[in-house]
Amino acid sequence: MSYAHVVLDISTRALAGAYDYSIPEELADAVQVGTTVLVNFSRRPSVGYVVAVLSRPANAVSLDKIHPVLQVLAPSAFDMGAARVASWMSREYACPPCEALRPFLAPGQLVKMRRRDEDSEWELLCERSGPVDARWVSLVPQDEPYEPRKNASRQRSVLDALKAGPVRMAELTATIPGAAQAVGALERKGAVAIETRRRVRGSDETSLSSAQAPRPEHLTQGQLDALRAIEEARVAARGDVVLVDGVTGSGKTEVYLAAIEAARRDGKGALVLVPEISLTAQTVGRFRSRFGDDVAVMHSRLSAGERYDQWDLVRQGLAHVVVGARSALFAPLYNVGLIIIDEEHEGSYKQGSAPRYHARELAARLARERGCALVLGSATPSVESLYRCKQGEWEGVRWTRVAMLERPGGATLPTVTVVDMTQQPSSSKRSVLSGELVKALEEVLERREKAVMLLNRRGFATFMMCSDCGCVPECPHCSTALTYHERTHKLVCHTCGLSWSTAAFPDPAAVCPSCGSRYMGAYGVGTQRVEDELAMLVGDRAEVIRMDADTTAEKGGHQRLLERFDAAECAILVGTQMIAKGLDFPEVTLVGVINADTTLKMPDFRAGERTYDLLEQVAGRAGRGERPGRVIVQTYWASHPAIQAVARHRRDTFLAAELEERAEAAYPPYTRVANVVASGLDERAVCLALDDLALALRQRLKGADGWEVLGPSECLKGRVKDRVRRHIVVKAPAGANMGELLGVEARALGHRPGVSIAVDVDCYDMM
Ligand code: ADP
Ligand code: ZN
Ligand code: ZN
Repeated sequence: MSYAHVVLDISTRALAGAYDYSIPEELADAVQVGTTVLVNFSRRPSVGYVVAVLSRPANAVSLDKIHPVLQVLAPSAFDMGAARVASWMSREYACPPCEALRPFLAPGQLVKMRRRDEDSEWELLCERSGPVDARWVSLVPQDEPYEPRKNASRQRSVLDALKAGPVRMAELTATIPGAAQAVGALERKGAVAIETRRRVRGSDETSLSSAQAPRPEHLTQGQLDALRAIEEARVAARGDVVLVDGVTGSGKTEVYLAAIEAARRDGKGALVLVPEISLTAQTVGRFRSRFGDDVAVMHSRLSAGERYDQWDLVRQGLAHVVVGARSALFAPLYNVGLIIIDEEHEGSYKQGSAPRYHARELAARLARERGCALVLGSATPSVESLYRCKQGEWEGVRWTRVAMLERPGGATLPTVTVVDMTQQPSSSKRSVLSGELVKALEEVLERREKAVMLLNRRGFATFMMCSDCGCVPECPHCSTALTYHERTHKLVCHTCGLSWSTAAFPDPAAVCPSCGSRYMGAYGVGTQRVEDELAMLVGDRAEVIRMDADTTAEKGGHQRLLERFDAAECAILVGTQMIAKGLDFPEVTLVGVINADTTLKMPDFRAGERTYDLLEQVAGRAGRGERPGRVIVQTYWASHPAIQAVARHRRDTFLAAELEERAEAAYPPYTRVANVVASGLDERAVCLALDDLALALRQRLKGADGWEVLGPSECLKGRVKDRVRRHIVVKAPAGANMGELLGVEARALGHRPGVSIAVDVDCYDMM
């Protein structure tokens, strides 16, 4: 008799582990690690996932209490290695084991148990986006070609259509009315054959013409150094990490391509992660042009069917290079040589809902499990990664930094001009474009080149800001910009939770507390406004293309806009953060940043780092071709280290100041920070639950060095869909196992009706 160790698909913190079930003789072959099964748990049927098959039960229970596996619901979707990583994820990020396993399952194939109410029967609900087949029609080679009768014109059309090769039945019926009957008749005559073939959805993303990846004649010295370090890490096979710290346009993608080629020669595959928004046809095209059909693509804009097919390509061993968003880490690729994370500093690598993993940390764990190398690439590596490289070792593996300081072919980095908006003449106060930016735009139009305009806007937070001096009221206890809460007319400090009625400031809606100006208001400019102003300026001399959440909402919208920009002779692309990444258009010679300060004022300890990253990234879009590039940064805070560092291409000055500040305030990389949010419709219940949790944590951590519990206080997003949100912030020493501790305490709190507790370890979003 063998036993299955099963994680139940019941999302509650109460179930922390896996349970044992016996495997009946007739299911012995079907039950494997990774299969979805049906079992009974506490007198109800439940879906579960097999994480181990054992010769005796793992838990100490008497054998006659062990129930059998009832049914196999889906074939194996993950292996032992993946099961171990999921188990780590569940502990590290304090989420139920089933939530850590779900991302590993075949997309669009989830099976769930549901019942309408307490008294009704449980029923199985199955998502069904499994494989689909397509029928293909082809000519049957004959000595004497079949001649249809004179009046059988449809048969003639079908035969004509097939001359160039097999055609899908669906296509024939779409173009030739009555094709189905004609094909039937032709098949009976033996003139054509119908064949069923598996159709693979999601592979036919067209590539931009400029998206080829021609193999360069020579690699730069920096690229060779990076490749050597990556090879070393891959051969060492223990999960070593290489940080490729290369300025924008230094050829990091070429390094990835060459490293993957080497891995493929050794029969190993690769997982390549790209931030969701830069996962465009341009990026995918570069990988396809080198690896062809060996590439599978995974991201959230694919339909369920497409996701399933791409996943299945990998599982069947038909594709070995997976290019995708953070979810590509869950692809069923077991023989991995490389995991690559491009733009590793990106905040979007942190998942916002359970399991709240960070792709970098999960990848590091996976790399150790699979014995492969982890490659992190960025022009602006995260403070965390740089810190680990400086240590040289982190959690038992080597962290190595390789710098790539030059652009191949000697293309130079653009010159950066900072425009202090507080010095603009008052006649142009109403315009979002400074005189300098207007002048530079005019030059671009004259030379018939292209420009990119970034409107730096993140989150929804509104600040009171003075448009004369740029002053934003700050909390007297923290260096945090106060956020304006419209609902309560209060200025709130998000860091310490204190708040002030707006009356405490001399009517902040009208007068600046610092300079007395009356141009004080809630700040927030839309892309629409910028687009309108630009359109007025350029008239019909150039195309103005706006790219933001609105214009890219539909499928392929992002790509269509880029194609338009690519095809235009002279054009200006206006957009939010999404334009900063990965675009490689040699004709772009000017980059304008409308307002650099918006991210700087975010109530978040990473605000400075994020602003610096964004400015450096968007600046890197200029001057990628032969013509030199220029960057104009408009700001109300010209003296900020992040702005100064970008202007001089001196990241070290920014990093030094930033690290000092982080150390002083006890923030990562020197500590770990978790955000614990309680939410619910009943404010009293939410408050009570969180107060209890905070108390329990404080008692448990009494005297523990380096631990701190802040709050409870109202979240910045104090109410979402009528649910009240309150939070506590927990700080721990850098190496501490905080997920496990928070998980235990959250479980001990027990079930509080109407209150949900979300634990976000290593949080990126403190709102
Ligand atoms: P990054 O990813 O670092 O921003 P890319 O990989 O996009 O840089 O490279 C920038 C440009 O330089 C691309 O057009 C690429 O084809 C080209 N390139 C990369 N490596 C070389 C090389 N060794 N020689 C010539 N051109 C190169
Ligand atoms: Zn002012
Ligand atoms: Zn404060």
